[in-house]
Amino acid sequence: MIETVTGKIKLEELGNTLVHEHIICSGAEFQAAFPNWRPRKKVLDIAVAKLKYISENYQVHTIIDGTPLSLGRDLELLKEASLRSGVQIIASTGFYYYDSFAVLKQPVELMAELLLKEIRHGAIRPAMFKCAADAAGITDTVRKSLQTAGAVYRETGMPVYCHTNSWTRSGIEAQQVLAEAGVAPEKCIFGHVCDSNDIGYALKLLEIGCFVSLDRICPHNAAFAAELIRAGYEGRIFLSHDHICCYDTVACDPPAPQNEPHGLDVVHGRIIPEMRQLGVTEEVIGKITTRNIITLYRN
Ligand SMILES: [Zn+2]
Repeated sequence: MIETVTGKIKLEELGNTLVHEHIICSGAEFQAAFPNWRPRKKVLDIAVAKLKYISENYQVHTIIDGTPLSLGRDLELLKEASLRSGVQIIASTGFYYYDSFAVLKQPVELMAELLLKEIRHGAIRPAMFKCAADAAGITDTVRKSLQTAGAVYRETGMPVYCHTNSWTRSGIEAQQVLAEAGVAPEKCIFGHVCDSNDIGYALKLLEIGCFVSLDRICPHNAAFAAELIRAGYEGRIFLSHDHICCYDTVACDPPAPQNEPHGLDVVHGRIIPEMRQLGVTEEVIGKITTRNIITLYRN
């Protein structure tokens, strides 16, 4: 079983899943100080339209929302987006790589205790630990976030999604810290591995036993995926967009132009058709879109 924002489901009910997307990324401190900061209705209308589009056109059943606490995660908003669109949403807990006063000042044990309380007893429960290491590598905030991921993992076995910078190969160091904290490689997804078109970086993480996610929209996504599949890693690849349906500005600005027009439709609308042209079979595509997520949670 797995927790979605609308309650527990069987792993088999996840179906066609995008593993790293965002309904909204937002300044948590502004939202706390100014409750009307977000145009809530507008955010929901935009997100629900995008979710319905991928559900109706590409039979996407589930998205994992990768928004951590420090980017303004809002569980009630995710629940409403899920109920209105019919798309299942898995929420995340955890932290981004930006320096955080809270993460810098609090002991790992206390953070883990609070996060565990929500995971076990919250009215809406997250089922993915989001952490991040970028070009600056293992900063104090990042180290403590990864250690908190480890503390939560040791209690619950919760999978970890780690944002990485593929130009600096930051996932390699992050994986080491996660492993030292007890997180098994086969419970980790390292994200954004495709951005720099450095196939060696993805292969290195795959050789360790991790999952990798090709989840930014680049011209080379299909060829990159096909090469990893040829190397035998079809069972440990995910495709997603890292699309942010809305930012929190008053204008609710649309995201980067490469994700237009709908933002959540590029994987199924362009990348998968290109993979078919490169000879990737329906069976392998089914594995990547539907089966691998079950493997991650079962591992
Ligand atoms: Zn993201």
